Amino acid sequence: LSPEERVGFAVVGLGKFALNQILPSFAFCRQAKLVSLVSGDAAKAREVARQYGVPESGIHDYANYDRIADDPAIQVVYVILPNALHAEYTQRAFRAGKHVLCEKPMAVSSAEAREMIAAGRAAGRKLMVAYRAQYETFNRKAIEMIREGELGKLRLITSDHGRPAKPEEPADQWRLQRALAGGGSLFDVGIYAVNAMRYLSGEEPEEVMAMTQSDPDDPRFREVEDRTTWQFRMPSGLLCNGSTSYSYFETKRLSVLGTDAALRMDPATDYDLRRMWVSREGEREAELLLPMNNQFAAGLDHMAECVRENRDPRTPGEEGLRDMLAMEAIYEAARTGRTVRV
Ligand code: NDP
Repeated sequence: LSPEERVGFAVVGLGKFALNQILPSFAFCRQAKLVSLVSGDAAKAREVARQYGVPESGIHDYANYDRIADDPAIQVVYVILPNALHAEYTQRAFRAGKHVLCEKPMAVSSAEAREMIAAGRAAGRKLMVAYRAQYETFNRKAIEMIREGELGKLRLITSDHGRPAKPEEPADQWRLQRALAGGGSLFDVGIYAVNAMRYLSGEEPEEVMAMTQSDPDDPRFREVEDRTTWQFRMPSGLLCNGSTSYSYFETKRLSVLGTDAALRMDPATDYDLRRMWVSREGEREAELLLPMNNQFAAGLDHMAECVRENRDPRTPGEEGLRDMLAMEAIYEAARTGRTVRV
């Protein structure tokens, strides 16, 4: 599309993820363009605006954020703030008449997620949760192979997603505060495993068991939990086994065991690297080589296309809500020591 035809995005929150992954990815977009920045740091916003060619009039702060309503160049607001602020900034964007792309986790509770979905519906605007893995070629291929029956009947999905939290890094300071993060490693990285179990199987968890563990003398875990392990039973009888952590080394892997074949991805959800192997009975495990795409640009373009063509996004608010419900069930199962029905 020509620059004039592209869908204009405002990025809210110029933190680590926005600056290092999202803003540079607009250069790889065919349908989305960056037209506005919202930040609490005026000097940073001016510098970033200069770098990306955003006009002075496109710069806003949190106090005058609602004025985005007056800027017709902004069609979509991309919320990249700490988790506890997603609901407020999404709802204010809807009130300003904009569509919303929101980072994961969509909110800090299922109640908030439902309010966000209702607000979008009331405003007649679209809500998409930025689940980048669902716009990424290796994960798409895995879904396609499973749907076409190449693995046979699915028996077990295992996924471990974690990374060490570093309190000295600004991006991890709010992550270790319950009021801003809403949860620990489960909300931040475990969500990739929860989401993968759902999109790979195409099923929703029916029963959940879980445990959490934090070292009592580790100051990082005064407010949020460190490790969680969980199990899902899906309606078909498929079992899932997941783990997440803020203290084991960076891990982003998954495996799917079917009656006929197995698939393994490691890393499955990295920014820049993906590797996938398939093994069948009597055959050596073989690596599947696929072209890599820019998953951030693919997500941005998908949202832009949905706005232009008035279609529902692949990962709408309801998709974010289902993860919130699954994660709340995991916390409840861990707290009570009982099996929880979702
Ligand atoms: P950062 O802390 O690096 O950035 C958050 C930004 O939000 C800040 O830089 C700041 O921007 C703004 N902000 C506004 N209010 C506050 C506040 N009270 N405390 C801290 N920051 C505030 O975090 P990330 O960029 O790592 O994460 C932001 C969101 O993106 C989270 O929801 C996270 O889960 C998600 N994320 C998603 C990833 C993915 O792969 N999909 C990867 C990483 C993060 P400013 O200075 O401009 O006001």
